[in-house]
Amino acid sequence: MDPLAAIAAEVQACRACPLWKGTTQAVPGEGSGESGIFFLGEAPGFHEDQQGRPFVGAAGQLLAELLAGIGLDRSKVFITNVVRHRPPGNRDPLPDEVAACDIWLRRHLDALQPRVLVTLGRHAMGKFFPGESISRIHGKPRVVGGVTVFPMFHPAAALRQPSLRPSLMADFTALAIFLATTPAVADEPAPPADQMTLFGR
Ligand code: SF4
Repeated sequence: MDPLAAIAAEVQACRACPLWKGTTQAVPGEGSGESGIFFLGEAPGFHEDQQGRPFVGAAGQLLAELLAGIGLDRSKVFITNVVRHRPPGNRDPLPDEVAACDIWLRRHLDALQPRVLVTLGRHAMGKFFPGESISRIHGKPRVVGGVTVFPMFHPAAALRQPSLRPSLMADFTALAIFLATTPAVADEPAPPADQMTLFGR
């Protein structure tokens, strides 16, 4: 079986935290590793829960537009969230829930070995840069545990606060430049999933 399909099937059966209760289905993530870009968002919302796909609403539309702006189709990137079941009432995911769901992030990173992991919003950023301010570090990639992490604002934040949109567009341009100017083979390859420690909370 295709590794991503195998992971998705396991995510659907996951009961490692209580978030699965009351949801329609899990939202494991979708896309491909073709571009080397791996997006990590926050959590599924209502429409994502209904469809089993990440970023299907207005934020997803904006993400697709931003990708098109740098010449990429959504199908060429991988998109997932820090938790893969919808939190009740769209509340923020709790630290224990995010920690429980780390196993799937590790599995996806191990399967895809992306060139860059783009965190969308403060929940995903906080996994790699705890205590940092997204306003301060967005658009500045840093290598964390062998993975290049590129923090950005969440597209939903730019929809709520249009003044953030130029920053998001500039960060996508910076991402395109990074990919064009950074060798495809990382100097420091990501360690095997079972040796990663960067997700400890
Ligand atoms: S949110 Fe993650 S850890 Fe919790 S049940 Fe769903 S897949 Fe498992």
